[in-house]
Formats: sequence, C-alpha cells, structure tokens
Amino acid sequence: MPDPLLDSLIELIRRTSAELPDDVNAALVRSLESEKKGTIAESALKIIERNIELAKRKSQPICQDTGSVVFYVQCPVGYDQIQFEETAREAVKQATKRGFLRQNSVDSITGRNDGTNLGPGAPAIHFHQHRFPQLEVCLILKGGGCENVGAQYSLPAEKLEANRDLDGCRRVILDAVLQAQGKGCGPGILGVCIGGDRATGYEFSKQQFLRFLGDRNPDPVLDALEQDILKTANELGIGPMGFGGRTTLLGVKICAANRVPASYFVSVSYMCWAFRRQGVVMGPDSSIQRWLY
Ligand code: SF4
Repeated sequence: MPDPLLDSLIELIRRTSAELPDDVNAALVRSLESEKKGTIAESALKIIERNIELAKRKSQPICQDTGSVVFYVQCPVGYDQIQFEETAREAVKQATKRGFLRQNSVDSITGRNDGTNLGPGAPAIHFHQHRFPQLEVCLILKGGGCENVGAQYSLPAEKLEANRDLDGCRRVILDAVLQAQGKGCGPGILGVCIGGDRATGYEFSKQQFLRFLGDRNPDPVLDALEQDILKTANELGIGPMGFGGRTTLLGVKICAANRVPASYFVSVSYMCWAFRRQGVVMGPDSSIQRWLY
C-alpha cells in the first residue's frame, strides 16, 4: 500500500545525504574565492567542491560517513508521533538499503552492525508541537569526525583564564576551534549554547545548525559574539582541513539557555564542511510541498 509519508522521508534522506543546501554551497564558494590562488587551502576547497558536484550528479552520499541521523519534527497538536517514528525508522532502513545512507550504526557494546542504521537512539527524533496545521521535518546527518571535536566547558576554566562572563565564553569557544584543528574536516560551522544543564546545552547547540548560515542573531550581544568569533577564528590560519589558509569557519551560531547559579556550561558542537541538513513542509497528504533550505 502506498505510504506518502514514507516516500517523503526517503526523499528527504536522499537529498540531505547527496546535496548540500544552497546557503552552505554559497559559503563554500565564497571561501574558495577568498583563499590565495595556488595554495593547499585552495586545492582542498576545490576537491571539496568537486566531491559536492559529483555527489549531487550521481545522487550518492557526499561523504562515506553519512553520520548520525537526527530528525527535528514540528507537528500540529494531536499528531500521531508513534506512527511518525515507526515510519521514520522504516525510511532509514530503506534509505540504507538503497545506498542513500551507509551502514553506519553499530551496537555500542558488541560493535555489531546489523546494516539497518536502526537501534536505541538511532535515528534520533526530536518532536516539537506548533499551532499550525502542517508538518515540518528537518534532518541533520551529523558526521562522526566533527562530532568528536565538539566540547563542553564548565566555567570557570582556570587553564584558559575563562571566567563566568562573555569573555570567558569567547575564550573557550576559540579553544574548541584550536583543539579541532586538523580534525573534524574543516572548514567548520559552530553551534554553541551558553548555559543550560549539560544535556540541554548540547541539544540547544545542535539546534543552532538549523539556522541559515547567513542569518543574524536577533540578540545584539550574541550577534556581536558570533561575528567576533567568526572573524577571529578565520585569522588563526588553520584553514580548510587544517592545511592553513583563511577559511577555518564558515559560520558561528550561538544561543543561550537559562542555568542554575551553581553551573555555567558552554557547549560547542562542530559541523564539518559536509553540512548535511535539509527540511520539508508536508501537505495534508504527507507529500512534500516545499523544501526549507
Ligand atoms: S567529519 Fe564530515 S567530512 Fe569528515 S569524514 Fe565525517 S562526515 Fe565526512
């Protein structure tokens, strides 16, 4: 029996895995233009560009690590989340069979890979209700290499002379960039949350990846911090893949969450150049009405 939700989710997975969104492509093109001609940085970005073009043309994964599969679902009140979860799991299984996702998920205790990309926490699905009739589904495929260089700091951090203030936040965020150099497949994008408990901080930091790369933070204090970190990081000379150059980061997105007075966490999530995120608005019949990125 035809299942339009299943078809829409498989197409969302295929497109997310094979095509970078326009805002990320545009940022990569700008960074290629800004690198000095004949440098390793320029060559690295040209190779990245070729891989992106090839993946799109052949409808195959941009990177062999198709990453953790993370859905963000905005659904109307009363929506059947159990049904969605079952369909999303089937979509992941079928997308894996068709090669849109690599067999990339293993049992953490035994190391066994059953080839389905399914298991506890896989895929991860975050539901949020909204007061609109339509279903919006975003998907992020989060690579392992860049996930490994994410970091959470508890301020004060004496070694970095980072106190519980904005300058302290700036210091630890830039430390995360320094620690990630040569790893994490830069140029990268940072998602940061200041505050929250440990789990909420990381969750909010990852939600920052749903923002458009070119947007500006509506909070002027956080906006200034984003611009400052982006500029400073790109003056560090780390460059694409750590080969040196002008493009260390493509974007910095920062939010804040309330914290208890006893804690001050800064959670930094790092996304590699293979910034695979897409989203769709679905109609009443669960067909794709509009692409979000
Ligand atoms: S970090 Fe990103 S680009 Fe690097 S191997 Fe993983 S998914 Fe691929």
